Amino acid sequence: MKILLDAGHGAGKAHNRGGLYYNEGDNNFYYSLVLKSELEKYQNVKVNLVRKKITDNPSLAQRSAMGSGYDLFLSLHSNAFSDPAANGTTIIDSLERPNTALAKDLSKAIADTFGHRNRGAVYKEGQPGYNWYGVLRFNKAGSSMIVEHGFHTNPKDCLFFKNNHIAVAVASAKVIAKHYGLKLKGTTSKPESNQGGEVMYRVQVGAFKVKGNADKLLKELKSKGYDAYIRTEVDSIPAKQGIKVGSRVKIKQGAKSYNGTGLSSFVYRNTYTVDQLKNNRAVLDTKGINTPVHIDDLILV
Ligand SMILES: [Zn+2]
Repeated sequence: MKILLDAGHGAGKAHNRGGLYYNEGDNNFYYSLVLKSELEKYQNVKVNLVRKKITDNPSLAQRSAMGSGYDLFLSLHSNAFSDPAANGTTIIDSLERPNTALAKDLSKAIADTFGHRNRGAVYKEGQPGYNWYGVLRFNKAGSSMIVEHGFHTNPKDCLFFKNNHIAVAVASAKVIAKHYGLKLKGTTSKPESNQGGEVMYRVQVGAFKVKGNADKLLKELKSKGYDAYIRTEVDSIPAKQGIKVGSRVKIKQGAKSYNGTGLSSFVYRNTYTVDQLKNNRAVLDTKGINTPVHIDDLILV
């Protein structure tokens, strides 16, 4: 099936709609990327974005026209109201092409994830027989609806949505999958993990020794609309022990070779050069004893 995600509004403060912890248009965009990747975990799903870049901001009529050829068009928003106490999830379903069952289930699943009020599915008529909302009016997608993920004028709703894109996307994708009979990818073949965990394919774009360089790349990726993050890792054993190619080392008394075979006693008295190093496997004096040894069995001299 084909799904079009319409992240509401445009980028930056100019398009904010009173959000307490985010500019609504920015948050809608970042959320659309997460929801896209959750939906694409299902088989035979093609997901496109109305806003491919965070700065894209087509008119409501253009967005509506883009729905043509899609089975489902979701316009992603959060709500606003003068009273900060107002909270809850609402779905405005298209009265031109209603899909009440999906709208109701989606609203409930999202409200349950937020732990707030489920305002359910509503309809708003403009000209008789037509939607009041421009993004739904004349929208030719099989189903089209506006999803109001809580109120960004409510501190709790706003902060929750900002910090829980994945949870909200997972719950939404599950409901959509149920309604359209979608199966998770890989469910017909042998599971990759016996613990039922999902297989994740992460894409790394850089690794740096200086944190400032990582921060710089992160900023650049975020400015391009990628939901990037920095993960700090301590490099594996060789760096920790300071042993590297060219290091002079002794072998610990009684240690075996990397392959588990015993070594002659004279070996422990001599000093060798690390000629090769891969993970924890060091090869000593390739032109001499040419022996692979576990790095834990080496002493730096
Ligand atoms: Zn909005």
